[in-house]
Amino acid sequence: MKRVFSVENRMLVERYRQALEDAGIPCQLRNEFLGGGAGELPVNEVWPEIWVADEDEQRARTLLQELKAREADPGPDWTCPRCGETLGGQFDACWNCGALRTEE
Ligand SMILES: [Zn+2]
Repeated sequence: MKRVFSVENRMLVERYRQALEDAGIPCQLRNEFLGGGAGELPVNEVWPEIWVADEDEQRARTLLQELKAREADPGPDWTCPRCGETLGGQFDACWNCGALRTEE
């Protein structure tokens, strides 16, 4: 097994794990239950970690890099076709009226 990802944010770890499994890469989460005892240990030793099989490591790393790149660059703002609200590129639906983003 290889560790491919570790971050303090459990929501992020869970999201990335889901993305990997959606891509057909089985993952194992480690340290996910240790967060509460962080006082005694160096903080980054208890961050949740994603581990994958050795043969999946390269694919997993590539996929995670793509995910991170996408989050760092959410794309341009867009305007809701229904209510005219301006929305950030990371959103797929209007928070104001619930309309889905349409292809431009
Ligand atoms: Zn709207």
